[in-house]
Amino acid sequence: MMKEEHYCRICGLYMKDKPWGDDGQSPTYEICPCCGVEFGNEDYDLFSIKEYRKEWLKNGANWFDKKKKPVFWDVNKQLMNVPEYFD
Ligand SMILES: [Zn+2]
Repeated sequence: MMKEEHYCRICGLYMKDKPWGDDGQSPTYEICPCCGVEFGNEDYDLFSIKEYRKEWLKNGANWFDKKKKPVFWDVNKQLMNVPEYFD
């Protein structure tokens, strides 16, 4: 079981529930509290992922759910968790 399946494909945030399910093909359609992507929607292919990430970073990498933002947060460090294939 790959640990990287727990990370958001856009921003690398750790998600307790795998964004794309156990088989990697069953998105939860939940919203990432960090980048605001809807799993199964804007992260469905590599092009879409890169576009969404680019826009998110360009707009200041704001947290969708600001209350969940850690006090000490490093976007670049978190981005290192993005599964290699989607980077
Ligand atoms: Zn995210």
